[in-house]
Amino acid sequence: MKYYNITKFPKWQQRVIKEASEIAENFITKKYNIDNDIFELVELRISNTCRFAKYNTGYGKIRLNGKLNFVNLYDKKSIGSYKKIISSIGYKVSYICQLIHELTHFVQDLEDRCFSEVETTQNEIEYLESIGYKIKL
Ligand SMILES: [Zn+2]
Repeated sequence: MKYYNITKFPKWQQRVIKEASEIAENFITKKYNIDNDIFELVELRISNTCRFAKYNTGYGKIRLNGKLNFVNLYDKKSIGSYKKIISSIGYKVSYICQLIHELTHFVQDLEDRCFSEVETTQNEIEYLESIGYKIKL
């Protein structure tokens, strides 16, 4: 992916963002069996002041919440209203989960599918479980 404004952030944060995006890209590539080149279309902006990460339809633009060091997950039973928060997880896993979430929207966009928060949440859980977290929603 292209990094829009990464150089204005501290070195440690730039390193964590790059490591996290590599892991998130690998996860999405395997999961959807897509070509890694597709991420050239993605432009990543980092914000230490925004409240939410987000994906812009049709533009491939992702915003990462740089100050978030925990993971928010939608509650599958009531999408959109409740979130389960996994605290003390650190910046790297937080960035990976945000990127897996937003890259899932990117794939939904590419495949011209309706955006589903069930799919994004499942992917985040799948990743978290692959590194040893037990998630119960
Ligand atoms: Zn979403």
